[in-house]
This record gives sequence, C-alpha cells and structure tokens, in this order.
Amino acid sequence: MWFVTGSSVTLFRRMMKQVSNNLIQYKRTGWRWLAGSFLCLVTSVAWAQTNTTGEELINRCGVVEHERILQQRNPDRLRQLTELNRLIQQAEANGKFLRQAVDETVYRIPVVVHVVHSNASNTIGGINNVNISDEQILSQIQVLNEDYRRKQGTNGYNTSAIGADARIEFFLATTDPAGNPTTGITRHYYAQKSSFNVFNDDVLLSQIAYWPSNRYLNIWVTKVDTYIGYTQFPAVADTLRGLPASSNEFTDGSIIDYRYFGKKTGTVSSSSLYALGRTATHEIGHWLGLFHTWGDGNGCAEDYVADTPLTDDRSDVSQLITCKQTYSTCVAGRQTRDLIEDYMNYWPDACMNLFTAGQVARMRLVLTLSPRRAQLLKSVSSPLTGTEVLTINVYPNPTTTNPYVDVQLKGFQTFSVDLFDATGRQLRTNTYTDYPSTSVSLSVAGLATGVYIVRVKTGRELASKRLLIQ
Ligand SMILES: [Zn+2]
Repeated sequence: MWFVTGSSVTLFRRMMKQVSNNLIQYKRTGWRWLAGSFLCLVTSVAWAQTNTTGEELINRCGVVEHERILQQRNPDRLRQLTELNRLIQQAEANGKFLRQAVDETVYRIPVVVHVVHSNASNTIGGINNVNISDEQILSQIQVLNEDYRRKQGTNGYNTSAIGADARIEFFLATTDPAGNPTTGITRHYYAQKSSFNVFNDDVLLSQIAYWPSNRYLNIWVTKVDTYIGYTQFPAVADTLRGLPASSNEFTDGSIIDYRYFGKKTGTVSSSSLYALGRTATHEIGHWLGLFHTWGDGNGCAEDYVADTPLTDDRSDVSQLITCKQTYSTCVAGRQTRDLIEDYMNYWPDACMNLFTAGQVARMRLVLTLSPRRAQLLKSVSSPLTGTEVLTINVYPNPTTTNPYVDVQLKGFQTFSVDLFDATGRQLRTNTYTDYPSTSVSLSVAGLATGVYIVRVKTGRELASKRLLIQ
C-alpha cells in the first residue's frame, strides 16, 4: 500500500532516518574524495505523508539513493561518472557548448516500456491496474515530446529567456532486439511480487524484462515502493581511457510507478500533484546526465549547469505542494529566485515547463559522450523516419493474428487508425495524438475471415490498405 499511516509511519521514518544518518556519515567522511565528482549525495530523505487536504505526498525521485546502491555494487562506477563529468567540462571548455547551441540536429530515442504487473487476469487498463493501457503509455510519450521539444501550445512550452528546445524526441520502438516488429510495449505477469523497491529490485525487474540499453531507453512501469521513480545516471564505459567495464547496463533506464506514468486520464492516478507525466520527463533528465537543481548534497551544490541558480535543498516534498515562488539563500547577503519551473526539481507537475539552455547542452553532450547513449543514437536506423507524404503498410497480410500498421508521415501529427469491413462498417478506431512515424498493432480478435480495409487518417491526408484475415 502506497499511503503509510500510523505506526508504520514511525517505523518508516526511523528507517529513513537511519538511511539519512548513514548518508551524512558517508558524505562527511568522503567529502574530499567526492569533491568535483559527477555525483553528490543527498542528506535528507522525505517520506510518505499527506498535506492538510489529504493529498498524497510521496518521494518524487529515488535517483540519489539508487545511485548510492549502484556504487556499492560497482566500486568503479564513481570513477566512471567522474570521468564522464570531466569529459563534459572539457568539451564545454573547448567550445562544444557554443557549437551545440547552433546544432539543430534532432536526436530520436527509441523507447521500450516494460509493464510488470501481478494481475493474473492480464486485463489491461482501468482503475488501480498496474497493467496500464496502451493509451496511457502513448500519453506519456506525447508529454515527453512536448517537454523535450518545448512545444508551442502545450504544457511543455515556455517563453523563458534561458529556456531551450532540447531537440530530443522519443518514440516507442518499432523493431525489437530480434528485428521483429513491435509496438514498443511489453507486458509481464509476475506473480511473486506486487511492488518493487528502490534499493535492490532494479536487477529483478531487469531479469523480468530488458532490451539492450545501448539500443533502447528501457522504462519499467510497475508499482514502486516509497519513490515514484528512479533512474541510473549515464557512465563512461571500458573502451574510454582504459576504464573497466561497466557492470550495470542491465539496469540502465528508468523505473516509474504506474500511477504517475502518462497524463492522468481519470482511470489510473488519484494524484493531483503528479498527474501530468512530468515524472518521466524528470527521470529521463537524469538518464541524460542532469542533476537536481540543488545539486544534491545539502543543497546549494553544483549541478554542473551554468545557467541554473544555486538552490537550497528542495528534496523535502512536503514543502512543495503548490507553485508558490520560493527563494534560496545560497549566495551570502542575497536571495535568489528558485527555478520552480525546471523539470529537475520536485515541484508538482503543473509548475514545470523548463529545461535551461545549459541543461540542454549538457544532455546533448551526454548523448554523444556516454558510450551507451552514443551507441543508441547510432543504432537508430529509423525504419520509420518520416516521409513527406503519408504512407502505410500492413503486415503480415494475409494474417491470422493482430497485424502491424506502419505509419510514416511528416513530423508529428495526430492520426487515427481505423478498420472497416467490406460493407464500410467501422469496426475499430484508435487515435494517436501528436505522434511521429510509428508502427502500431491492430486488434483483429473475434473478426471473421474475409477482406477488411485499414485506413489511416491525419488532419489532411488519408491512406488505405486492404487486409485479408484468414
Ligand atoms: Zn530526480
């Protein structure tokens, strides 16, 4: 159960306090060693509680705790992160930062969403069902593209002078690791566990479902204990400057609680604070090498981004339930405005709409400097890269199972995929909002053998194919 009450709160607080104390101890003893490294440690850990209106407050992000575990597992990891950070700073010093500012290349990231649930009936969608619907997943991809493209007319748009379009797009993978067509969504019934924790279940989730992290961004959606999401920072691999092999490629990705994945549709999440899909925006920011704006540590720490102001520690979510402006006192004698609209904060989803130009430059450098990210970009052979004119393909055809429909179009568009019988009666319709070229699965369950028409319709174009069901 997510909501912690009564004596379990006390127990939980005591447990978290212990964790917090351990971290303080660790930081104190290791501070000199950690100075200048990619990673800082948080010293305050928030816990589940409610505000006066009963709204559920939860730990926004477990990335700092999670990173600590990864470093315990792999003693070389800190050195790898430090090396990556050094490379980024070197690249910035060499002027790559400036070149990035005029580099208009759009990076496209193939995503696989692994839904891991303990719902024996395997029903998809509905209230409190970890096995969330395709529609819910698609709404998350849409939010990512709005936010990372600073898209006009959406929640992801801003007019901030320091805001920037990250020029990074996300799409559900159309080809699986074996080269077969896929919807980019995998579903896994796992009876042994109904929820997973930040401390050690990432390996288990990876054993249940994993696609190579140098070709896909893996996102595991399940019920998560304590935190609503966590992510592994990128690292430098063994091929660079003789560093040892990274041991954590199998847990490279984001793990996000099902209640906060995608836009609230009235069927999944009861949260009003985290209902706009910004948990994934934030977590993937970590996947691309960004820190919280307070730099972790005790706050006022370095996030290695020049245009984000120093910020007091804002990791206590109980303070962050509205978009009320706050100020930090990191600079002696002066208050500075917190960037409450930055995605790398803990403020509620509705407050957020900003990546700064510095954050964008850092994410884009990580995509080219961190080997697994760079390999991923190279691996995007983009079977569906987009076309000037709408084209579709349906296969297998003839078919005995649900066929795939390849939809290739220009840029991002809203389109429907419809199925008609030979008399023109509409049997199926699915709408994809503001979506790039993709491959989708079309359900033909329960239909008689015969000839059908598959139609794809955008705002200005239409394409049809005949489909034979056997
Ligand atoms: Zn975070």
